Amino acid sequence: MSRVVVIGAGIGGMCAAARLAKAGHSVDIYESSHFVGGKCRTEWIGKYAFDTGPSLLTLPAVYRDFFLKTGEPIERVLELQPVNPAFDYRFADGASVKFTNLSRYETLAAIRESFGSRASDEWNALMERAEKMWDVSREPFIESELTSILSFIKRPTFLRDLLTIAPWKNLRTLVKSLTQNQYLSYIIDRYATYSGSDPRKAPAVILSIAFVEEAFGAWHIKGGIGQLALAIEERAKELGVKFHLNAPVVSINHNGKSVSGITVASGEKISADVVVANSDASTVYTQLITGKVRVLRKQRASLAKSEPSLAGFSLLLGLKPDPDAPPMSHHTVLFPADYDAEFDAIFTEHKPVEEPTIYICAPNDPSMSRTPGYESWFVLVNAPRHSTVGDGWDWSDENFARAYGAKIISQIEARGIPLRHRIELLEVRTPADLEKSVGAPGGSIYGSSSNSARSAFTRARNRSPLNGLFCVGGSAHPGGGLPLVGISAEIVADAIGRA
Ligand SMILES: Cc1cc2nc3c(=O)[nH]c(=O)nc-3n(C[C@H](O)[C@H](O)[C@H](O)COP(=O)(O)OP(=O)(O)OC[C@H]3O[C@@H](n4cnc5c(N)ncnc54)[C@H](O)[C@@H]3O)c2cc1C
Repeated sequence: MSRVVVIGAGIGGMCAAARLAKAGHSVDIYESSHFVGGKCRTEWIGKYAFDTGPSLLTLPAVYRDFFLKTGEPIERVLELQPVNPAFDYRFADGASVKFTNLSRYETLAAIRESFGSRASDEWNALMERAEKMWDVSREPFIESELTSILSFIKRPTFLRDLLTIAPWKNLRTLVKSLTQNQYLSYIIDRYATYSGSDPRKAPAVILSIAFVEEAFGAWHIKGGIGQLALAIEERAKELGVKFHLNAPVVSINHNGKSVSGITVASGEKISADVVVANSDASTVYTQLITGKVRVLRKQRASLAKSEPSLAGFSLLLGLKPDPDAPPMSHHTVLFPADYDAEFDAIFTEHKPVEEPTIYICAPNDPSMSRTPGYESWFVLVNAPRHSTVGDGWDWSDENFARAYGAKIISQIEARGIPLRHRIELLEVRTPADLEKSVGAPGGSIYGSSSNSARSAFTRARNRSPLNGLFCVGGSAHPGGGLPLVGISAEIVADAIGRA
């Protein structure tokens, strides 16, 4: 039995902890904040509940596997609800299309009705390519430790697989070769933002996310996606994991070759055979481990090359009932006229987007409001990272943040969704707030972006060069978002092995 310390009670940290406890290890989690779940959290404010982090669950099989392997199945602890339509996409010129959940047949029919037969055929071709990409990439690049490209090169199907993934193409170039339809291109571009990236730089294989969402569905969890965090916490506790909240870790202790434990802010030193870091990998390698450490040189250099993911600016809106309000789908996306201007603003100019893509999550879940008819909307737009010095935007100016929020509300209203007269509660959350609450540097949503073909290789490895140190979560392999974070926990627990 190893003595394991986990830094951070985010989803990745807690899933790894529970799996390790199940395997017979003694596990303690040290979490700097007063709550578990990290970015994944349902927050109650007055009579309203908001998912202030993830509001969409895809690939639920990852969490089905987690709950099954650690005890009772997911169905006994959470109510998963398919969301239909999966997305209501609305464009600046008034065009729109609703994607049916879990049915390509119906989605193709909806595309045909909105944009014609050719567009429908092109979407089918895009999804066929996306499925092939998923089949080829899931095992070597997502479900296993990415130690080197060699295992991929040695595959007997290497050349065919290479042509499928086309690493020399970015998402935009690939999509352009399969469709000229601007509406479909915008819908696909948005999948690059699921990994915090720019579609003009992200590898073409990002297209596989569209297939995953279509094939395995868009899901909600009754009470909010944050219930997932609470259920994982409960499972971990049942297995004997000990939680220490309000306990920031200030250093990872080591002898240059192997870890020996951690020090918490109180000054207490805790010895451990294994340290699993769920805190952001860049923080791990620059702040929790300082000074020259020879074995870390390569990993630190490669992390320095990775570009951080985009951040998010959000509005929490508590809305009074209005019988005349137009009905909203659970997930609505209002695309701007010029999507590229958004990526230029975020990644090149590092400033808030004038006319951003606006994502509205209006959960059709009565358990997310204490008073029938009242609604809790979570509105999210992509934003540049918070920074007071380098590339980024200083989000600490509260007046600016409030004015920017008001501008977004006006843009929603201009798209035929009257809102102001219904607002009973309004809170603004900036990238600076996320940085402060969960230690996400700059408020990056997904750790590092996938803004280059090599991004998978510059991301932190799960197994650090320092013996006994492992990285789990969105800033480590295979990347951010709930499905990948859950997979990273499985990879780390398997790598540490049985007691
Ligand atoms: C606004 C927003 C919307 C999102 N939408 C979606 C979505 O719809 N679907 C989806 O799948 N994903 C979404 N995501 C991404 C998803 O939330 C994350 O990828 C995932 O929750 C990250 O989990 P993690 O394991 O990396 O841990 P994190 O959530 O990053 O948690 C890390 C934990 O470590 C703690 N910590 C940090 N430093 C220390 C330290 N020194 N000592 C002790 N503890 C420390 C933090 O307090 C935190 O609790 C969204 C994220 C955000 C912010």
